[in-house]
Amino acid sequence: MSANRPLNIPGRRKVITKNMILEAQKHTKSNMAAARWMNVCYTTYRKWARYYKVFEQHKNQTGVGITKGWATRTTNVEEIILGNRKVPRKWSQSTVKKELIDKGYWTEDCHHCGYNETNLETGKVCLGVDFKDGDSKNWLNDNIRLLCANCYYSFNAYFPSAKKFCK
Ligand SMILES: [Zn+2]
Repeated sequence: MSANRPLNIPGRRKVITKNMILEAQKHTKSNMAAARWMNVCYTTYRKWARYYKVFEQHKNQTGVGITKGWATRTTNVEEIILGNRKVPRKWSQSTVKKELIDKGYWTEDCHHCGYNETNLETGKVCLGVDFKDGDSKNWLNDNIRLLCANCYYSFNAYFPSAKKFCK
């Protein structure tokens, strides 16, 4: 954990300095990823980045250090969680989940308890997408999170299927 990341003190406003944002931008390829890197929500990040006038400069970094194959994808997962695009028909929930993890927007662990045990058979952590408002079409960044089976059950009182978690 870098000293440049903002401290999350419950009940206290996060103070974000220009240096923190520049540091996050150095490590990431987009504003969304930078917010994730700093562990602050995108809206907070955007507010401060605009305030320091460093928001625009971190946009449209496509092509810089991004893995091949990216350009052939017609849909950018960031557009989905910003609400600019709908999830393409051919994408399953697992596809979006995978995109969010692969592109660095999500860490592969339970966003509630931190569970990150790799399943021996699949080599993945069994985690499911949780929609806070219960609407599985609402992919907005603030509405989605990754949960382990235990936490998912605690928040939703039902468990969909092992497939949804381990795929
Ligand atoms: Zn959990």
